[in-house]
Amino acid sequence: MTAPVKKNDRVTVYIEDLTHEGLGVGKVDGYPLFIHGALPQETAEVHVLKTLKSYGFAKIVELKEPSPDRVEAPCMYFGKCGGCQLQHLSYEGQLHWKENMVRNVMKRIGKIEAPVRPIKGMEHPWNYRNKSQIPFAMGESGPIAGFYKSRTHDIVDMERCLIQMSEADIIMANLKKELEKIGIEPYNETTHQGMLRHVIVRTGRATGEVMVVLVTKKRKFPQKDAAVEVIRKLIPHVTSIVQNVNSEKTNVILGKETMTLWGKETIEDTIGDIRFEISARSFYQVNPVQTEVLYNQALEYAGLTGEETVIDAYCGIGTISLFLAKKAKQVMGVEIVEEAIEDAKRNAELNGFTNTYFEAGPAEEVIPRWYKEGKRADVLVVDPPRKGCDQALLNTIIEFKPKRVVYVSCNPSTLARDLRILEDGGYKTMEITPVDMFPQTTHVECVVLMSRVEK
Ligand code: SAH
Repeated sequence: MTAPVKKNDRVTVYIEDLTHEGLGVGKVDGYPLFIHGALPQETAEVHVLKTLKSYGFAKIVELKEPSPDRVEAPCMYFGKCGGCQLQHLSYEGQLHWKENMVRNVMKRIGKIEAPVRPIKGMEHPWNYRNKSQIPFAMGESGPIAGFYKSRTHDIVDMERCLIQMSEADIIMANLKKELEKIGIEPYNETTHQGMLRHVIVRTGRATGEVMVVLVTKKRKFPQKDAAVEVIRKLIPHVTSIVQNVNSEKTNVILGKETMTLWGKETIEDTIGDIRFEISARSFYQVNPVQTEVLYNQALEYAGLTGEETVIDAYCGIGTISLFLAKKAKQVMGVEIVEEAIEDAKRNAELNGFTNTYFEAGPAEEVIPRWYKEGKRADVLVVDPPRKGCDQALLNTIIEFKPKRVVYVSCNPSTLARDLRILEDGGYKTMEITPVDMFPQTTHVECVVLMSRVEK
């Protein structure tokens, strides 16, 4: 197809959709233009920035007909910072778009016909993030800290973020001002020089405990006492300050080695009536209010009576496992990060569970081995990372024949792909519930119930 428009053309388009990155989609004779800041149902005059073979990019020159759901983005960094994509869309509008997006992706990618239930949104969709990973660098007039611009490693120097909890704001706004005084140089990605790469702030919403992780290039960190003193002054209620060493030239934030500099090694939080201890390197859901909603939905779909053996694949620190262990005969969890499995075992003990078993390793290797050893499960829960389940694991689920599969997913596309494979292997998708874990962004979480139809 040759593009019906060229660079610097001006055209008026109607916006039909939003991409996963939050760009408006308008078509000229069927040729899609991706438009920054445009929303569905809007008509805009746009300036074409770039044309490729099958699509192009444009920016708004004049908004002729705004969407009824358009709002003023409350954050001053919106549009620059890559963290949020949807602040210019009302929260109702965001929920509506996410629910429909899930519905469309299920049909288009997975040919899944199951009903998509109304999305579960938040009452106050702000200040929800309990964990922020803040990159530091040297700016033109001193150290800077904030979040990256979309698709770059350019830091937007920020003082606050409206979706994170207040402790992360304190670090973001103030720590950079103290670095020169105590002689800590921010890391430079290009030259691989400097010391401080990222600071991670994690808050236990229910307990008020706070962990600050300083990710340093070197193990030897002569300014550590001064750093501890500054952080304790900035956040008097901090409970844990740890150093993580990452000497690699990499985009991965955390390195393998973690040392406690001050206070406790872990922080504690509670979800529902279960307590969790969380280490610096362990995964823990970032929206604690919605985590409870998500886990309760998973628990409902698991349909437990007390007689079932349950497998929790990709179990992290055992959060879903313990939620299910309240109602199951036995729960077996598997997770690739060893520290997370240590946390899971400690968490089971902390809460007095004796019906859980945890093992570290890749789910796609451990579960097939369990199967060979003769273990069986009535219900299998999976909660994989964005890339979805490994094919080997899906094959094992089909052989294992649990009565129900509960699939928790943060990526509708890989979810739809995996549901199709399981449907072809003898399962039926019963229903899908989207949960808004990430307000103001285009991300959406889903919980799915599948039942075995073939014996
Ligand atoms: N269910 C947990 C964690 C979900 S996040 C919770 O709700 O908190 C996904 C988890 O999968 C992460 O903890 C990650 O470390 C783990 N993981 C990634 N690849 C894996 C694999 N191949 N096998 C097992 N676990 C894996």
